[in-house]
Amino acid sequence: MRKKQNLIKKIVSGLNERLSRCDLCPRECGVDRIHGERGICSAGNDILIYSNFLHKGEEPVISGSGGSGTIFFSGCPLRCVYCQNYKFSHFPNGEKNTIEDVADKMIRLQTDGAHNINLVTPTHYLPYILKALDNAFDRGLNLPIVYNTSGYEKRDIIELLDGIIDVYLPDMKYIDSDVSKKYSKAEDYFLRCSESLKEMQRQVSRTVMDSDGMMKRGLIVRHLVLPGCADKSVKIINWLSANLTDFKVSLMCQFQPYFTARDYPEINRRVSPEEYDIVVNEMIKLDIDGWAQDYDTDEDLAGIYL
Ligand code: SF4
Repeated sequence: MRKKQNLIKKIVSGLNERLSRCDLCPRECGVDRIHGERGICSAGNDILIYSNFLHKGEEPVISGSGGSGTIFFSGCPLRCVYCQNYKFSHFPNGEKNTIEDVADKMIRLQTDGAHNINLVTPTHYLPYILKALDNAFDRGLNLPIVYNTSGYEKRDIIELLDGIIDVYLPDMKYIDSDVSKKYSKAEDYFLRCSESLKEMQRQVSRTVMDSDGMMKRGLIVRHLVLPGCADKSVKIINWLSANLTDFKVSLMCQFQPYFTARDYPEINRRVSPEEYDIVVNEMIKLDIDGWAQDYDTDEDLAGIYL
């Protein structure tokens, strides 16, 4: 892990300085987080973690039999109106952690049998997380690092992670700016996401699996089908097929009108089986490797079949 630690040392102080006029994500709030100001993501100068555990419900190549060592960070720059994690993504709910605490959690997850360290919505805490990784590498952390993100990222930030992140697990939520503006107040979502995904693909150009079928290196793009948006999902699947080279897609149908989605009548329902089938069939038609959630289950498990 010495190579990763050297890369971290090169970038971490610059990232830390950026906290004083925070521009870590496309929101570019410019707030002084070093002195406790909070931006749209709700993060200030402390690390809030909502939960950490061995996650058995991620994609099979991420969860495996032992589980993915998942750390859910509180806060989020994107803040979708339908977020199922709204209790800690829209609100600063969670326990305060020091950098050493975060490193402890990583080491404990490894000791407990995790296949990887799965950083969920990490970007607004990136300088702190990199310091924690450096600390944990010193103490023997040797698992693949998974960057699990909404896809609303700045390309220059993703570029800095070259050689540090092993598996990228981004969403591609929207392709139309009117939809991303309406549900996430992010008119530039597709522009930011598409640029970032291309950079992720450049970094992890080739999927690498271990002998147990776990992903050691690669790119998995998640897409949650929204009610009434199957046509847009088809466009996304086609964009991925045309613009990425070695990737997997994890298609999801678990949308429920959480949080304030009920204020938007057109999405105040589940996706229908017919809508979902349209998108699954497009994946099959384009011969895209990956998984699709089972429509007829109450469990929010990723990567069921395809
Ligand atoms: S990380 Fe948070 S504070 Fe920084 S620019 Fe993004 S939303 Fe604003």
